[in-house]
Amino acid sequence: ARPQVVVVGGGFGGATAAKYLRLWSEGGIDVTLVEPNPRFVSCPLSNLVLGGHRTLDDLTLDYDALPRRYGVRLVHASVAEVRHDRREAALSDGTVLRYDRIVLSPGVEFMFDALPALSSPAARNQVVHAWKAGPQTLALRRQLEAMPDGGVFVMTVPPQPYRCPPGPYERACQVATYFQRAKPRSKVLILDANDDVVSKGALFKRIWAERYPGMIEYQPQFRLADADLPNAAVISELGDRVRADVLNLIPPQRAGDIALQAGVANANGRWCHVDFRSFESTRMPGVHVLGDAIQVAPLMPKSGHMANQHAKVCAGAIVAAFEGHEMAGSPVINNTCYSFVTGKEAIHVASVHAYDAAARSLIVVPGSGGLSPGASELEGRYAGDWARNIWSDMLA
Ligand code: FAD
Repeated sequence: ARPQVVVVGGGFGGATAAKYLRLWSEGGIDVTLVEPNPRFVSCPLSNLVLGGHRTLDDLTLDYDALPRRYGVRLVHASVAEVRHDRREAALSDGTVLRYDRIVLSPGVEFMFDALPALSSPAARNQVVHAWKAGPQTLALRRQLEAMPDGGVFVMTVPPQPYRCPPGPYERACQVATYFQRAKPRSKVLILDANDDVVSKGALFKRIWAERYPGMIEYQPQFRLADADLPNAAVISELGDRVRADVLNLIPPQRAGDIALQAGVANANGRWCHVDFRSFESTRMPGVHVLGDAIQVAPLMPKSGHMANQHAKVCAGAIVAAFEGHEMAGSPVINNTCYSFVTGKEAIHVASVHAYDAAARSLIVVPGSGGLSPGASELEGRYAGDWARNIWSDMLA
C-alpha cells in the first residue's frame, strides 16, 4: 500500500509540507491536508489592513491548487483527536483518517488562563487580539475607525516566545500611519511584557521618533496580570491600571490545542521539542511538528518564513524515510522578516540557520543575515514580493 501522511493545519507550515510531500515523492505518498477554514488568510501583511493600506481580500487565497495540481486530498474539518498508538486522526465530524506519519502545524493558541477576567469563554471572545488574521483584524480596524480623535490605542505585547516577534512593533507603526492621516491627536501606547523591543529594536525606536514624533509611546516590563474588559483597561502585576479607547490585548501563547492533545508538547507543556533534521517529535516518533508550535532553536523566530522552511526539511525527511534512505540530513534554512513601517516603506531582519550536530540544534551561521540600515520604499516592494512568493510557494 502507498504510504499515508495526514497533515493537520493548512497554514504556512502545513500547506507547504502537503505540497512538497506530493512533489518530492512524485505522487508516491498519499497526503491528506485537514484545515477547517475554506480559504487561507495571511497574517503577514495583515497589520497593513489596520493602517488602511491593504484589504483582507488582498491577503486571502484559495486552497484549490493543492488538490488540482498536486493531488493533495483536502478535507475542510478540524482534527479533534490524534490516537497515535493506533495511527489514527479523528475529525470533528467523526471521520477517522488512518496514517503512517502525521504532520502537525496547528499554529498557536492563546493562554487566557493566567488572566482571571478572561476565565469565561464569553469574555475570551471579547478580547480583540487580531493575532490570527481574519474577522478580528476587521473588528480591530472598525474600532480604530470609530475611535474619536485624541483617543489612545493600547496594545499589550506578551512575553517571548510568541508568534512574529516584530509583529507588534510593525502594528504600532501601522496604527500610527492611520492616526497621522485621520486622527492626529491620538496616541499609540505599547505595553510590553518584555524588557525591550524584541526584534529590530533600535531601528523601530528610531523610526517611531522620526516618523511619528510624540505619537508612539513604549513601556517595557508591563507584565499583564488581569484585564477589565467592560472598561477597556489592563492591570499590571504591580497594580498599574491603564485604560484604553481601543484595547488590543495580545495574550501569551502556546502550541495549538491538537499538539497538546496528541501529547507532543514536551517543552513546559507549551511547545513541542523536535529533531531539527526531520521536525519529528522528540517524544513521539512518527509525529512531526512544524511552525509556531515547536520549541524554537536559539534566535529562531516564530515566523511564516520559518514555518515554510521547517516544512521543506520535514517533507524531505519523510520522503527519504518512506524510500528507505537515511532520514537525517544536515539542514540549512533561512529567515527574513519584513515589517512595514509606513504604507509603502519596510525594514527587514534576516538570518541563516545551519544544523549543528554537537548542539543538535539549528544555529545562526556567524556573519549571515543582517538588518536594514533604515526604512525604504524599495524594501517595501521587496516585502510585497516576499509575501506573493511565499504564498505561491505554499498554495499555487
Ligand atoms: P498557521 O499559519 O497559523 O497555520 C495553522 C493552521 O492550522 C490554521 O489554518 C488553523 O486553522 C489550522 N488548525 C489548527 N488546529 C487545527 C486542527 N485541530 N485541525 C485542523 N487544522 C487546524 N511571519 C513572517 O514570516 N513574516 C511576516 O511578515 C509576518 N507577519 C505577521 C504579522 C502578524 C500580525 C502576525 C500575527 C503574524 C505574522 N507572521 C509573519 C507570523 C506567521 O503568521 C506565523 O509564524 C505562521 O502563520 C506560522 O505558521 P504555522 O503553520 O505554524 O501556523
